[in-house]
Amino acid sequence: MIRFFEKDPYSPIQYVYDVDKVLFRKKSEYQEILVFKNGYFGKVLVLDGVVQLTERDEFFYHEMLVHPILHAHPSPRVALVIGGGDGGAVREVVRHECIEKVYFVEIDREVIETSKRFFPTVSSEIDNPKVEIHNMDGAEFVRNRKNEIDIVIVDSTDIIGFARSLFTVEFFRSIKDCLTDQGMFVTLSESLHFHRDMVADVQETLRLVFPEVDLYTAPIATYAGNWWTFSAASVSLGMREPRRDIVSGVRFYSEEIHRQAFLPQRLYEKLLKKELKW
Ligand code: SAM
Repeated sequence: MIRFFEKDPYSPIQYVYDVDKVLFRKKSEYQEILVFKNGYFGKVLVLDGVVQLTERDEFFYHEMLVHPILHAHPSPRVALVIGGGDGGAVREVVRHECIEKVYFVEIDREVIETSKRFFPTVSSEIDNPKVEIHNMDGAEFVRNRKNEIDIVIVDSTDIIGFARSLFTVEFFRSIKDCLTDQGMFVTLSESLHFHRDMVADVQETLRLVFPEVDLYTAPIATYAGNWWTFSAASVSLGMREPRRDIVSGVRFYSEEIHRQAFLPQRLYEKLLKKELKW
């Protein structure tokens, strides 16, 4: 049996997957792309040695990345997804019928092509006529845009390499500028078990720019630390309550999950003060 040993630079533990079959391997201009099949998880997408998604559990991550802020927004029309080349975030965004346009800004076109070929259930909405693809750096895309977009979602690789441009204060300022008056933003921010200081740093940087910043979590089996965080920010409204009916077709996200996903206030304050010790 061949084994895949994940090489996650931030993880104190290493995951090992049995590989039934290697389906694809290619070095793109930006990263090494690998697709393999595992008996439990189905097809697995790996970029630069780090697992990005598996067929079996991807919906936990994609639903929880997208739906909390989309349901917290009273009337979103225009969305922007940065990264997310597999198409999972885009698929969830277009479940919202009020969305008229989705800018899909993925730097590496090869990831999109790979997902279309091997992950049809994830990439299913990439060719939806509402979706406009731009293969470029998300930080470049948002620079100098004003008051145009209702929802921005960052679904990037980990906070290193070319994804680093998506976690700077300059980037967060550009996001705030590009958002409309009730605009909202969400980005992945690593694990509350393993990366507390990194989570607190993302929150602190967002707080320099946005009046409303919050944190919620979801259980992701295949990301190191599992207790995965999402940092959300808003130009005006709070995000702890859904403001619209829940879309159909979701498997994990619900109104109850929305409410309980946000960090309890005392835990949240401790995190910000870097007083969480575990
Ligand atoms: N859900 C996954 C995770 O957390 O592991 C992320 C999946 S998605 C495949 C990540 C994508 O972000 C990659 O395809 C990568 O090319 C893209 N990406 C990274 N930095 C980017 C940037 N600065 N602008 C646009 N896309 C970027």
